[in-house]
Amino acid sequence: MRIEQDLKLGFKDVMIRPKRSTLKSRSQVSLERTYTFLHAKMTWTGIPIMAANMDTVGTFDMAKKLAEKKLFTAIHKHYTIEEWKTFLEETSPELKNYIAVSTGTGEEDSKKLKEILSLSKDLKFICIDVANGYSEHFVEFLEKTRENFPEKVIIAGNVVTGEMVEELLIAGADIVKVGIGPGSVCTTRVKTGVGYPQLSAIIECADAAHGLGGQIISDGGCAIPGDIAKAFGAGADFVMLGGMLAGHDESGGDIIELDGNKFKRFYGMSSNTAMDKHAGGVAEYRASEGKTVEVPYRGAVENTLQDILGGLRSTCTYVGASRLKELTKRTTFIRVAEQENTVYK
Ligand code: 5GP
Repeated sequence: MRIEQDLKLGFKDVMIRPKRSTLKSRSQVSLERTYTFLHAKMTWTGIPIMAANMDTVGTFDMAKKLAEKKLFTAIHKHYTIEEWKTFLEETSPELKNYIAVSTGTGEEDSKKLKEILSLSKDLKFICIDVANGYSEHFVEFLEKTRENFPEKVIIAGNVVTGEMVEELLIAGADIVKVGIGPGSVCTTRVKTGVGYPQLSAIIECADAAHGLGGQIISDGGCAIPGDIAKAFGAGADFVMLGGMLAGHDESGGDIIELDGNKFKRFYGMSSNTAMDKHAGGVAEYRASEGKTVEVPYRGAVENTLQDILGGLRSTCTYVGASRLKELTKRTTFIRVAEQENTVYK
């Protein structure tokens, strides 16, 4: 039996140490980044925060709002071709720089992906998403997708270790999605005992990816704006959010009223709710690995975005980073045994 003795850390285990800074105001901080992708060779500029490809978050409405601020949306894979057609007709070519078409790795998925991409040449991003990115079938699917779409930017995941990040980049991914088990509605760690604390996963995977000229997305586990700052500080090129963007007008689903309070339903993509909705129930051989929760209704996503982007700008001023690009270099984490004061919570 082998046990790795190095302690692996999550967001709650660290804080960012403040540093002397010449910045006078948060307004001097630029959150935009420009990346050139490993295989697609395309260059992208924007604020590298993404809505997750969950049907309660990665919606067309979310994409319209986020793209206005140059944020990205991984559109969930459950829209029909007809719905895609309508959406693409009513949106600008510019918006298409800020969305990815998500797909699973089945034959039907592959056919649907081709059909959607054939609707518009401006669709440039593909997100191949599976819960377990360690399977051979997934790598083969990625290789085939790279062959079929040499010029598209391919996001692939999820994994949590450097050697698998390298394998996916070599197999054709431009960006690797990192995270197993940290998600707010994820029960993988409970059901399987498998996982990796997210901060350490980011540090190790970013190192592996950057060595080969690739990028990573930190996916899951950000519950407050400070976690997003820590993810970028640790080396994430993009940060993907589920729960933090749930409960808004732009999230899917209806408003639910309970005892005079308003809520929206939010659920994991492998929860019973999602599988009943999209796959006719949970298959006999598997267990649900996601929760269903009611989150307080929060109105327009715009206010939440301001909170997130304001927080991130403030982090940058605390460590003297005038651009998000400098945040990793300027970050020193301190290990801690406390986080926020919860007296009034
Ligand atoms: P959050 O930002 O809510 O903490 O995490 C969002 C991420 O959780 C998603 O991008 C996805 O990677 C992951 N996720 C979404 N649904 C499920 C699920 O049903 N099970 C698991 N294990 N992970 C999920």
